Amino acid sequence: MQVIRLEALSDNYIFLLYDRTQNIAAVVDPAEAEPVLKQLAELKAELVAIFNTHHHQDHVGGNQQLMQQFPAVTVYGGIEDRGRIPGQQVFLEDNSHIKFANRVAEVIFVPGHTRAHIAYYFPPEVASEPGDLFCGDTLFAGGCGRLFEGTPAQMINSLNKLRSLPDNTRVWCAHEYTLKNLQFALTLDGENADLQKRFDEVKAYRSRGEATIPSLLGVEKRTNPFLRWEQPTLQSAAKSNDPVQTFARIRGMKDKF
Ligand code: ZN
Ligand code: FE
Repeated sequence: MQVIRLEALSDNYIFLLYDRTQNIAAVVDPAEAEPVLKQLAELKAELVAIFNTHHHQDHVGGNQQLMQQFPAVTVYGGIEDRGRIPGQQVFLEDNSHIKFANRVAEVIFVPGHTRAHIAYYFPPEVASEPGDLFCGDTLFAGGCGRLFEGTPAQMINSLNKLRSLPDNTRVWCAHEYTLKNLQFALTLDGENADLQKRFDEVKAYRSRGEATIPSLLGVEKRTNPFLRWEQPTLQSAAKSNDPVQTFARIRGMKDKF
């Protein structure tokens, strides 16, 4: 399975999962249809699945047009999103599994950004290779999604599930927010050498107009303030020694950054 990253709207990424042997593809969070149709035409591939992480327009905006072009496509989303995802046919529960080509992904229920948000995790085919996590607007490179429909306690629980995946997992999040996220992270965790190094790398990438996605989960664990609620530095920045309160206050500061 090859992952092809497509740019959409102002800062969204759409991910096309492509299986060369069967010449089929699946798409994660089609913000719009055009870039997906263009890539499929180049590959001469058939779209068999749409995997939505949540109902926001910048994640489902292309569903209907893709369904018109590929009437046999199956539309997947979380069970709690019933009625909110255009064309949804499969209603996924926590810990359920979906298939694409020769791969099986685990569905992880990650409420917080929305009350229905799910992530898709493809474990590696071979142990030495990275797995792939499609986490929508829950975990970002250097950040996390805003809490629109969930509480800090829910979000910390969701991020904790993602944090428990192997370090060698590619994090395919849905927005290019990395530079701004790391600028914020440095205001709280400026002595973190891994974070400083990452910031310099990301700045260089962005100055060349290159994407910073995917990132690696191991890097997120060391540098993303929204996965580090038990670190003394972050607790003191949040003036709390409670993990949920630390997370909530850091999220609140980011909302105003
Ligand atoms: Zn969203
Ligand atoms: Fe989004």
